[in-house]
Amino acid sequence: MSSSPSAPTRRVRITLLTLCALIAAVLLVLPSRAEAAADPPGAGTWLWPVAGGRTVVEPFRAPAHAYGPGHRGIDIAADDVVRAPAAGVVAFRGTVVDRPLITIDHGGGNVSTLEPVQSELTPGTVVAQGEAIGTLSVGGHAARGALHIGVRWNDVYLNPMLMFGRVPRAVLIPCGASGC
Ligand SMILES: [Zn+2]
Repeated sequence: MSSSPSAPTRRVRITLLTLCALIAAVLLVLPSRAEAAADPPGAGTWLWPVAGGRTVVEPFRAPAHAYGPGHRGIDIAADDVVRAPAAGVVAFRGTVVDRPLITIDHGGGNVSTLEPVQSELTPGTVVAQGEAIGTLSVGGHAARGALHIGVRWNDVYLNPMLMFGRVPRAVLIPCGASGC
């Protein structure tokens, strides 16, 4: 029995090594691509939609897949007036199941939903950044005194903290300008 591999075995080994190198190269490239893709227009420029300190009572929890459990937004401490986090056009305003909500299309593929919010605005209304769009209501999963903010970019939910930018001390989760 010879201990040195035959020529065909060597070729297989070389092919496997090449394959491994290719996979490693792809894995090295992919994360940086994902990072670049996870930077929607307007990131870091949105205004906190309520007065007072930035207090996150429920952080964003990305679902493992499109229909998986998670928290597709953040719940923040709020009291009364809710303001548009960025300029846009009201896309929807109404009651879904048990809570009133408002959805704003900010352009560039960014859509925000705020709930529970009682609003008089009608779809098509243009809102400026910081403009009052309604008042905090009750209903839905957010605790009483909390406002849920969901942000979709090209129909994919992302961590809204990415849009609000650098976070002062009051926040309860370790998020920075680049998200969580
Ligand atoms: Zn929520």
